[in-house]
Amino acid sequence: MTGPGKVWLVGAGPGDPGLLTLKAARAIGACDTLVYDYLASPAIVALAPAAAEKIYVGKKAGAHTLSQDEITALIVQLGLAGKRVVRLKGGDVFVFARGGEEAAELHAAGVPFEIVPGITSAIAAPAYAGIPITHRDHNTSFTIATGHEDPTKGYSSLDFAKLANPTQTLVFLMAMGSLGGIVAKLREHGMPGDLPVGIVREGTKPTQETLVATLDTVVAEVERTHFAAPAIVVFGNVVREREAIRWFDNTPLFGKRVLVTRPRDAADELATKFWEAGAEPVLAPTIEIVAPDDAQPARDAIAALATYAWVVFTSANGVDACFASIGASGGDARRFGGARIAAIGPKTAERLAAHGIRPDFVPGQYVAEDVAAGLLAKTGTTDRVLVFGAQEMRDTLAATLRARGRAVDVVAGYQTRAVRDERIAEFAETCDVWTFASGSAVTSFLDNVPGAADLAQDKIVACIGPITAAAARDAGLTVDVVADTFTAEGLLAALEASAARVHATP
Ligand code: SAH
Repeated sequence: MTGPGKVWLVGAGPGDPGLLTLKAARAIGACDTLVYDYLASPAIVALAPAAAEKIYVGKKAGAHTLSQDEITALIVQLGLAGKRVVRLKGGDVFVFARGGEEAAELHAAGVPFEIVPGITSAIAAPAYAGIPITHRDHNTSFTIATGHEDPTKGYSSLDFAKLANPTQTLVFLMAMGSLGGIVAKLREHGMPGDLPVGIVREGTKPTQETLVATLDTVVAEVERTHFAAPAIVVFGNVVREREAIRWFDNTPLFGKRVLVTRPRDAADELATKFWEAGAEPVLAPTIEIVAPDDAQPARDAIAALATYAWVVFTSANGVDACFASIGASGGDARRFGGARIAAIGPKTAERLAAHGIRPDFVPGQYVAEDVAAGLLAKTGTTDRVLVFGAQEMRDTLAATLRARGRAVDVVAGYQTRAVRDERIAEFAETCDVWTFASGSAVTSFLDNVPGAADLAQDKIVACIGPITAAAARDAGLTVDVVADTFTAEGLLAALEASAARVHATP
């Protein structure tokens, strides 16, 4: 018989995956079973190990879900069965989230548990709308209340005589259904009709929306704009601060859905950058990195690394493949002996640095022609050069070096393979921006998305550099943005600059 496992009651934060705590990320990354509801971002759910069981328990009004008792019974039963369970909740575990009941049941059943608090939407959603929960000019306390929790009590059990205090900030969760009643009660107890009210829905997400009104106008405004849950309602003078300190929902890429076609491993960095820019990355890898058709030439070259004058890496993936192969044969970075090392660009150099190697040469422009010119200047005709990269790599570099008498070996450490996935076309349709980081990603994208060239007319097509852009144009896409620096940062900066120009146009 297995002993009891353990349950982590984890707050996932309000939506932006960057607001997950380190402790929550560690717990999710180590669980056997993840039990989550509709407020959890897919990016956070994706932190669970691939092998972990993921159980969706819903909770969105109207959707098919488990009841609270069934959820509690489920985590108790999983815990008793010896599982490491993460029960993930939106925001904080104990802010109107019934974490107290779940913890008590775990205690009663003898299942060990831990509480990992999360950032609550009650404070974070207003913060992302530029509304501070406290401000010296406006309030010395705040109250967080529920507009609807236990249906037998509801908001009517609240003491509105105390809540109707214009010098405190009053935050309501789950109040969209009862807003009219709450506003009427506050008015009844003397709250001024011109008191500012801010409502933030889908706070901290690229879909965030904010409505600012007054106590007198808010109900009509909500009706007029069909403003719906999930939302935080803030009553108080702090709402006035939004005008000055609004910062998130006015950035150039805010709210844009961005298709990321890079291979999954390489996509994370770009995806995080888009989140931080207020955009929503949609991961739709059109290519994947796999072993080359014949791995023997790479193995042979690696066995003889020290006999080369220069070893040139044409991609970060090549660096990974090379070190994987060195590692598999029981070696380490000393295999390079006295060979000097070149990297085609900063990302390749960064990957080398992660293995303790500082490249001797990184060209100013990250294209094969510049690497060739630089290497010709640094090598003599008797020098042997190894070019280590992708099976499908262009032969410009080797050809240029050979034409000037260098002995060049070109070996493939990996190949990129086209992905076939019908969801790519669906995702492409729903995104505002398409990003491409290689010609092969473009080619495979077009194979997956019928009618892509027409669809592209309504999209912003962004490429990481001129070679990728040329491939996209050859394929019939109109390219709107090309990065000046051929990296994830460069792509993001170019997109932001272009979106800011569009914003500025009247
Ligand atoms: N434990 C959660 C609250 C759960 S109750 C927390 O600490 O945030 C569910 C309510 O939380 C929703 O009805 C809504 O009022 C609020 N909510 C949760 N996430 C939200 C978000 N991203 N933006 C606005 N409101 C949110």
